[in-house]
Amino acid sequence: MKQKPFLICFVIICAALGSPAETCRYSSIEIDTGGSKMPLPVQSYRGVLKSVDELLCLYEKPQGLKLSLQTKGTDARYSFSGNEIASVALYEKYQSGKTAHPIYGQFILAHEYTHSIFTLNMMKASAAWGHWPNAELKANKLQNILNDLQDKAAQTTDPGQQALLKKQYAAVEKALRQVLYSLESINYVAAKAINEFYADLIPVVLTANPRAIYQALKVDHKDNFSDSSLVRDFSQTYGQQILSRWSLQVGKMMKNNELTGLRYTGLAPLRSFVWELIKGPVQNPANKSKIAIAIFQVLAQDYQSRFAQPMAAESLDVTNWNLQLAEKIHKKLLEK
Ligand SMILES: [Zn+2]
Repeated sequence: MKQKPFLICFVIICAALGSPAETCRYSSIEIDTGGSKMPLPVQSYRGVLKSVDELLCLYEKPQGLKLSLQTKGTDARYSFSGNEIASVALYEKYQSGKTAHPIYGQFILAHEYTHSIFTLNMMKASAAWGHWPNAELKANKLQNILNDLQDKAAQTTDPGQQALLKKQYAAVEKALRQVLYSLESINYVAAKAINEFYADLIPVVLTANPRAIYQALKVDHKDNFSDSSLVRDFSQTYGQQILSRWSLQVGKMMKNNELTGLRYTGLAPLRSFVWELIKGPVQNPANKSKIAIAIFQVLAQDYQSRFAQPMAAESLDVTNWNLQLAEKIHKKLLEK
């Protein structure tokens, strides 16, 4: 009962987005519930996808995307190579065994679906960013070739054939190592971090609730920066004390070469700075698209100018990155 207002809020906001221009582009999505009864009508999940489509009206939308919805669990992901989303309708809270209110399943779905739109459109908007989904595809392809070569080697006893397969295997393995090495770079992690930021932003913009994703994911344990839900709370204030705690955590990740941790943590302050900028305007449904598009454009331009060349992790000042992005977004939002 406590969470009911959010449900009402989401429905009202979806309706308040109004009738879209005729030129609006929509996705075509097949929803698979595995025959299970969902906590909310399947149509309401379609409504979530439609709200995101209409928020980013003219942006390219995925076609033939498969969405598999599970009743419970913690699995939620978007796969570019598979053109699919797996999402959970009732997010399972780990320690207590409780599940979250079904509205949060809709927020998680909006997050995953935003990844698909962000990926498609960012690939066009920034060549530097677009390199990465292709690198992931290449890594998958090379891994499949390695598996095939391994199967073939197991099936032959001919020494000449085995020697040839071994040589081919070594060449493909070397190519795969190079791609995987690039997928450990700060450039790749930064591309992931803006993708996560934007996928969190859209449910926040749609609901005008800065804690939408935080509340959806928050588990029982205490908030801290290693709890990935806190860093996704747009209402968290980054005063000097919190900012230095965050900065310590980020410094530790960089020093220990745990760059993947930056995926959610790297742009935590930006979430807060952006909420400060949009918390007034986002209450008016007429402003929501403008906000979402302006921020997309800044992220594309900033990534292209900052990360077009391979860079050493230590040369990225993550605090400045957050501050400069916030400044650019501020300026963009002031444009007519
Ligand atoms: Zn995500």
